[in-house]
Amino acid sequence: MAEQKRDYYEVLGISKGASEEEIKRAYRNMARKYHPDVNPGNKEAEEKFKEVNEAYEVLSDSKKRELYDNYGHAGVDPNFNPNAYGGGDFGGFGGFGDIGSIFESFFGGMGGGAASRRTGPSKGENVRIRMEISFEEAAFGCEKTIEIGRVENCETCGGTGAAPGTHADTCPRCGGTGQVRTTRRTPLGTVTMSDTCPECGGRGKKIASPCTSCGGSGVKRAKRTIKVKVPAGIDDGQTFAVRGEGHAGENGGPSGDLLVDVSVRPHPVFEREGTSVHIEMPVSFAQAALGAELEVPTIDGKVKYTMPEGTQTGSVYRLRGKGIPRVNSSVRGDEFVHIVVETPRNLTARQKELLREFDGTLGDKQSEKRKRFFDKFKK
Ligand SMILES: [Zn+2]
Ligand SMILES: [Zn+2]
Repeated sequence: MAEQKRDYYEVLGISKGASEEEIKRAYRNMARKYHPDVNPGNKEAEEKFKEVNEAYEVLSDSKKRELYDNYGHAGVDPNFNPNAYGGGDFGGFGGFGDIGSIFESFFGGMGGGAASRRTGPSKGENVRIRMEISFEEAAFGCEKTIEIGRVENCETCGGTGAAPGTHADTCPRCGGTGQVRTTRRTPLGTVTMSDTCPECGGRGKKIASPCTSCGGSGVKRAKRTIKVKVPAGIDDGQTFAVRGEGHAGENGGPSGDLLVDVSVRPHPVFEREGTSVHIEMPVSFAQAALGAELEVPTIDGKVKYTMPEGTQTGSVYRLRGKGIPRVNSSVRGDEFVHIVVETPRNLTARQKELLREFDGTLGDKQSEKRKRFFDKFKK
């Protein structure tokens, strides 16, 4: 950590108590200001843009924000805090404690019934992360390299927890169920309760010589760098899964999945609505009246569009197949071009004169709307 990072709230120009809505608004303003499309080749803006995105990634996620509020940058740095990986999956997984307690809190906190979790193989928990991508990356898909923290089977013992060459035995106390029944006399009568077996800690196995590499837990926490394919067409707020890249399963069960929650940065020009792309296209009054060949931006680059003469402001043209692809499909949505006729300002005296002269020549047929409008008041 060579560089000194700026406070995330300061980066977005908001106060510590800012609401989610305020954070979003501040981010949108900043992102538009520093977006590379708006500042081509500007290194400083590029750095600012990165900083803004990093701040937003943390402050827009309530869990990360809390960690940041409590511990500062170290709280959300994956190098310091395994919780920084953003999942709720780790629950009570409190840092790099001793491996025994990690084991306890991890497997002990797996929800569900205590009795059902030890007996057979079970699928591992999912790892959940958040990823922020650009508008274009979402539209066309991309490949991202990410770092995740997860629980993996210990390589030394193959997940059994027993030292190499030895094996784990079925716990004699609970017979492998991990549960023991205790009967208690209470003033209300005899109560039978099911408890975690104190002998094996609920695992159903007794290990005579524990594996020294994992302390007998059979699992290890690992940091992995993996490549993920972000599917083309994914939208803001959607999640995609990478099968088998989550936490290790138990008793030989399959690994959980990696779930990636996607947030898509807004684009300064294109607006997305499902698979449709909307764009506002300003044209001059003369272009609208005379017709013009327009160069319309699309996510594939500029395309030529012949705007007919007499185009009204608010007209919408559709460019078929120039929208966003549907996820897992080759079908693409359309782009909608919203024409905005710009009324000229700051005219010179000569221009005004020409326009007045021009206006005087207009017949009723040439401005039908205006004629109809005023006709209504004549009666
Ligand atoms: Zn081991
Ligand atoms: Zn036992």
